[in-house]
Amino acid sequence: MIRFFDALHCSLSSILCMNSPAKSPLTSSASCTTSALVRTLTDAGAKLRIKQVETSVLAKTQVLIEVRAIGLCRTDFYAISGAIKTKPGALIPGHEFSGVVVKTGDSVHNVSVGHHVVVNPVVPCGKCDDCRKKQSHCCAKTNFMGVDLDGACRENLVVNASACYRVPEHINFEVAAFAEPVAATTSIFKANISPTEKGLLIGDSRIAKLANRVLLAHGFDQIQSASLDEASLLESDQYDFVIEADVSTKVFQEMVRLIRPRGKLILKSRQHHPIQLVPREIVLKEPTIHMVNYGRFDQAVDLIVSERVRVDDLVGRNFPLRYFATALKYAAASEKRKTFLIPGDHS
Ligand SMILES: [Zn+2]
Ligand SMILES: [Zn+2]
Repeated sequence: MIRFFDALHCSLSSILCMNSPAKSPLTSSASCTTSALVRTLTDAGAKLRIKQVETSVLAKTQVLIEVRAIGLCRTDFYAISGAIKTKPGALIPGHEFSGVVVKTGDSVHNVSVGHHVVVNPVVPCGKCDDCRKKQSHCCAKTNFMGVDLDGACRENLVVNASACYRVPEHINFEVAAFAEPVAATTSIFKANISPTEKGLLIGDSRIAKLANRVLLAHGFDQIQSASLDEASLLESDQYDFVIEADVSTKVFQEMVRLIRPRGKLILKSRQHHPIQLVPREIVLKEPTIHMVNYGRFDQAVDLIVSERVRVDDLVGRNFPLRYFATALKYAAASEKRKTFLIPGDHS
């Protein structure tokens, strides 16, 4: 993580910061321009600037959203810096976001103008077996907003209504935007773990805290949490499953050491850097390795709205969108709480 943030600091130093152009008012027309944070990659590195971009025309099944909060996470850093493959050319980052519906297409029934919503940034292919069986959260051919497609770092955008989930107005926009990392976290249940099994969660980051709360909300009240240093002091071969919240070669080695023979290793992190696996050390235990991506977004929203998973204390500072450079530096400096960008005049 440190190595990555060092690299990011270098690329941030080359970021070109421009003043935000005047805010374009949302009009009744579905097609207008909006201030957006746009990344371009050049030989000199990543450049970010605020630009006016066209908002796409609203289709019958789509809604226009005024974006109110965008959470920043490592995926944004990877996408911005070009550390992971993204949509070619200019990219608008941002995938953890909430907002207000300001216009709906004629065939939209699940949300209405004025509703507060959080948006699932994972766009399934719609064609594979999982999608056809209405298991689109298992789709392996998804496009991800802010990475493969333009994302939410702008004042307004058009999205499919089916990706929108209403949240009550008393839930603040930053808390609502946590539905995305919660959905990523609930993927751990794809490993068929049970509260009666002996489990360990390795990590002490914000992501580990969130994973611990998601587990508690599902009845895993016996699960043990440990930082990597603490985990290295634990007795070997004793856990039915071990989950990581920040994988590295060292973390994976500890997971293998701590798992009982034929236990489950659950990897949920999305670091772009490789980790080393030494097959001989692993095969002796015949573990099942689960690499999990996403749980169901509707269930994640429900966990937030019902307050079965509380994230208030994980909400960090917010910055107006035009102060993106400061916000990114701030977010890179500490992962204890999530940093947010706030478009328009809402910060
Ligand atoms: Zn994220
Ligand atoms: Zn699919």
